[in-house]
Amino acid sequence: MGYVNGLKCRECGREYAVEPIYVCEFCFGPLEVVYDYKKIMKVLTRKTIEKREKNLWRYKELLPVDGEPQVGLKSGYTPLIKADNLAKELGIKELYIKDDTVVHPTLSFKDRVVAVALTKAKEFGFDTVACASTGNLAHSVSAHGAKAGFKRFVFIPATLEPSKIVASLVYEPHLVAVDGNYDEVNRLCSEIANKYNWAFVNINIRPFYAEGSKTQGFEIIEQLGWKAPDNVVVPCASGSLLTKIWKSFREFKEIGILKELYTKVFAAQATGCSPISTAIKQETDMIRPVKPNTVAKSLAIGNPADGFYALQVVKQTGGYGEDVSDEEIIEGIKMLARTEGVFAETAGGVTLACTKKLIEAGRINRDETTVICITGNGLKTQEALTGHTISPYYIKPNLASFEEALKKIQNTK
Ligand SMILES: *Cc1c(COP(=O)(O)O)cnc(C)c1O
Ligand SMILES: [Zn+2]
Repeated sequence: MGYVNGLKCRECGREYAVEPIYVCEFCFGPLEVVYDYKKIMKVLTRKTIEKREKNLWRYKELLPVDGEPQVGLKSGYTPLIKADNLAKELGIKELYIKDDTVVHPTLSFKDRVVAVALTKAKEFGFDTVACASTGNLAHSVSAHGAKAGFKRFVFIPATLEPSKIVASLVYEPHLVAVDGNYDEVNRLCSEIANKYNWAFVNINIRPFYAEGSKTQGFEIIEQLGWKAPDNVVVPCASGSLLTKIWKSFREFKEIGILKELYTKVFAAQATGCSPISTAIKQETDMIRPVKPNTVAKSLAIGNPADGFYALQVVKQTGGYGEDVSDEEIIEGIKMLARTEGVFAETAGGVTLACTKKLIEAGRINRDETTVICITGNGLKTQEALTGHTISPYYIKPNLASFEEALKKIQNTK
């Protein structure tokens, strides 16, 4: 048996049984999975976790599935890299990269949420899975859904990066490219979800899907030696990942795995789509929707479903929000590659560039421990770097030609 008590409305607290539902019938608040922590405490200890396989299911009692995991069995437990070169460049003492650009089959943290969503979709008995995506979710649902034997409907804005579209098409889902931005795609999908009996991973089974993001937070704590960092910087699209990383820290505290918790949570966005960081800076609880215009397409959600809750986490923990221009995003990608050998997609550029600004502004203390969440691989958004990288040396296939180039290289040093 599982460890889930049921679903609960985040606004009015009304309780619901475990079903593929996502909003409260009474107040339209979002539903959240509730666990039996007393029961979980008895089975989930540091020792039990350490003995398990190194994948995202090693924390399965804190994930909303009843039976055995069925999807994403090789996903998760990504590296936590001590980023000394980058720390030096940024002028801070201790910095870690939570590197979700690797290990995952589709090379982004979305494999975490999809592992949980598709396992749950199996338990509910769905034969079709679907999603509204800014890119990475499309890729992940297409791939994991293929392996798990689901029919797949994947909805994306037609303007997505061509390499991300190919990365989904190769798994042969029904890919629907909509003439509109993500928020319009999402609205359409809500209508479709009401009419067709499909498991829309980020709509009707969203409460379960979103819980998968917690595994990134659990791993951070475990890999820091069962300690929470002083600061964590999280990129925000809908704001879900940020709220779930905080939930994961609190849960580890709740079940006694974590002794102390003083982490400040920081939100990173692109200036071209910054409803959350803007509200933080303006000290308002009102998230004002925007029309996205940024190179960071994976974060381009103008009307973020969990924006309000992300804002509350940032405020409660003493964190802050920051946003950066497209130029700063590209510079962030390059800095991460140059210093640490990690090639991140645009969202990673957002996170690093925001971290730099937060340090410079004194919002992140230089003497503290900071973890930055790098959530997707740069091979997926290579278009973003066109015209922004250094150039190769073009030579003839002979030694003289090479040595001519070498002379130029040595002269520029
Ligand atoms: C989806 C996504 C995020 C954050 O998504 P939320 O909706 O805020 O949970 C961050 N980085 C990448 C690369 C993503 O694809
Ligand atoms: Zn309610």
